Amino acid sequence: MALWKCSKCGSTKETRCKPKKCPSCGEIDTMIKEEGTKSTEVTERCGTKRTCKKKAS
Ligand SMILES: [Zn+2]
Repeated sequence: MALWKCSKCGSTKETRCKPKKCPSCGEIDTMIKEEGTKSTEVTERCGTKRTCKKKAS
């Protein structure tokens, strides 16, 4: 899993795929991957979810 951090409120969440919105403040697309966490199997595990394929930019 990877750790994601909200660039707006700083809340973190640990999950495989990128959360499309912050679980804390509800802001959309603010979740940024924190470096230094586990593996590279981040976006690839979530096969069916389009949100995981989306580029951050
Ligand atoms: Zn937030």
